[in-house]
Amino acid sequence: MRSSRMNQDRAQATPELGVVIPCFDEEAVLPALFEELTRFAQALPGKVWFLLVNDGSRDRSAALLDAQCDRDPRFAALHFSRNFGHQTAVSAGLAHVRGDVVAVLDADLQDPPAVVLQMIAKWREGYDVVYGVRQNRKEGPLLRACYAAFYRVMRRVANVEIPLDAGDFSLMDRRVVDLVNAMPEHNRFVRGLRGWVGFRQTGLPYDRAARAAGEAKYGFRKLFRLALDGLVSFSSLPLRLAAWLGLFASVLGFVLMLWALVAAFVSETTPPGWASTAVIVLFFGGVQLLMLGVLGEYLGRIFDEVKGRPHFVVAHRRGWAATDAAAR
Ligand code: UDP
Ligand code: MG
Repeated sequence: MRSSRMNQDRAQATPELGVVIPCFDEEAVLPALFEELTRFAQALPGKVWFLLVNDGSRDRSAALLDAQCDRDPRFAALHFSRNFGHQTAVSAGLAHVRGDVVAVLDADLQDPPAVVLQMIAKWREGYDVVYGVRQNRKEGPLLRACYAAFYRVMRRVANVEIPLDAGDFSLMDRRVVDLVNAMPEHNRFVRGLRGWVGFRQTGLPYDRAARAAGEAKYGFRKLFRLALDGLVSFSSLPLRLAAWLGLFASVLGFVLMLWALVAAFVSETTPPGWASTAVIVLFFGGVQLLMLGVLGEYLGRIFDEVKGRPHFVVAHRRGWAATDAAAR
């Protein structure tokens, strides 16, 4: 009853839209981005608020952002004191943005703003999260294979629904944004947190454009970290793997022990045994180190959480009355 009335309200609503855009060394695309966003704002029936999070850019991005905020009162900028990483920038944006619905886009125009209009239509149908599903990728075959493998592994092992080929590009209802903001964790895998919240979520297929200008800021190392963050934050399967390997090793060890005993009693000449000893030592040495590494991944993250440092440091703010006096 209640939800159907709410959906009816939504069907007629013109929601205020907040847009969060993380930027790291994006001076090459920012002019095109501002132009595109201004055009997009004209196509929107309701109000719109753009929040650009400058993740410690070392180029002229900061000056360009501030100039845009001064030119257009719909723009605000949050400048980090250094590079804190994409997921942190998105999280900071979500914590400070205005709006009844909030979209997250990349600065490089790979996520076309026009698709947000279709996402709002889905929100009107009653969905709380509408995430973009990449239909094609412009990356090379190696990177594409890695992405495909990662999403499929995550789907099998994660304890939340993490849809295939969906990134951060999405539209969220205000209640989802508030819930994501309320999650205290430091290692933030935004698409996982978003999925964890639940409610009604749906995918919207779109063609992912090539980067409009500049270079990708995600090197292989950063992508690998992101993948590991996702895996470790949303699955304890790697830890359980240790138990399974342990079981396997125990059974194997027991069988070998029986064999060794029988061999010692039955055959005249006990085998010299160097090869088997070496193999066993090397194999279990490797397994133990691997499992220590897995433990370390979890331990390191627990350490990050326990230290309880702030997630980011803001150097300065511009626009929307210094972003609503630093929001909440
Ligand atoms: N980004 C960021 N901090 C970083 C790396 C990237 O805020 O440390 C931003 C970047 O400016 C862009 C978005 O995250 O808006 C996605 O980055 P990129 O285009 O390099 O990644 P890809 O599209 O290759 O996944
Ligand atoms: Mg990109």
